Amino acid sequence: MKKHINFNQIRFPGEKDMTMLVHILGAFGWIIFIIGIFFFSQQSMAIAIISVTTIILYTLLWPLLKYNAFIQGNGVLVTKDQYPEIFSLVTEFIDLFQLQDRKEVEVYVIQERGLNAVTIPAFYHNQIMLTSDIIESLIQNRNWDELRAVVGHELGHHFARHTDYWLLDVPMHIFPMGIIGLYQSRLAELTGDRAGYFLSGSLEGTLVAIKKLLTGPILYQHFNSSAYDNQIKTSKASPFLKLTNLFNTHPYLFERIDKLITYDKTIKSKN
Ligand SMILES: [Zn+2]
Repeated sequence: MKKHINFNQIRFPGEKDMTMLVHILGAFGWIIFIIGIFFFSQQSMAIAIISVTTIILYTLLWPLLKYNAFIQGNGVLVTKDQYPEIFSLVTEFIDLFQLQDRKEVEVYVIQERGLNAVTIPAFYHNQIMLTSDIIESLIQNRNWDELRAVVGHELGHHFARHTDYWLLDVPMHIFPMGIIGLYQSRLAELTGDRAGYFLSGSLEGTLVAIKKLLTGPILYQHFNSSAYDNQIKTSKASPFLKLTNLFNTHPYLFERIDKLITYDKTIKSKN
């Protein structure tokens, strides 16, 4: 029986503060943008309001709504009667972190090749999309730990509210502020990995899930973990990878594996 855990305790160090900073800077970005549009439109408030509203509706809200509708219209909603094993992971996670007060989340399965899982903001419920490929690849050996890790990762984004203020955060995707936005995004991924680790309850299962993202499920059967450990050591020391990582939304997979192993050691040394 798992004891209840405070979700904030498992967040990657500094992620919560950085997420808050991104919201604040994002709000400033919007203010500067709106003032800029106001002066660009010869200080016509009407033109400025119409311009900003059009930009928000057409380039930001409409594509998201279409994607929400695509997921809802072409996906299979996970419920207690539809893929109940996956549904039970969601309820177990809510119970583990005592998150009943959070906005509801809907999990959809989409028939798609590619090992992919995404948390998508939506107006009423956040959506989590899992491709059929990732589910089939992770439950191949009838071991649920790997799928639990991936569902936990996505639920982690949802419960950490990484996507709730996406509109506010839009200016943080634009250079030079994008550097800060990307840093927060990588920290958010590491928080997601920790959530996956907790829901999985198994370092091994979580690592196998990430390693299947590296190799695909078939080649994973021939994967040499100790050879990959050597690759991690080389990659960690690479200034080239350190520099290019600054421009990534997600940390490199070797780094995610390495950080989880370190986290597992920290947890076990405390117990
Ligand atoms: Zn993620």
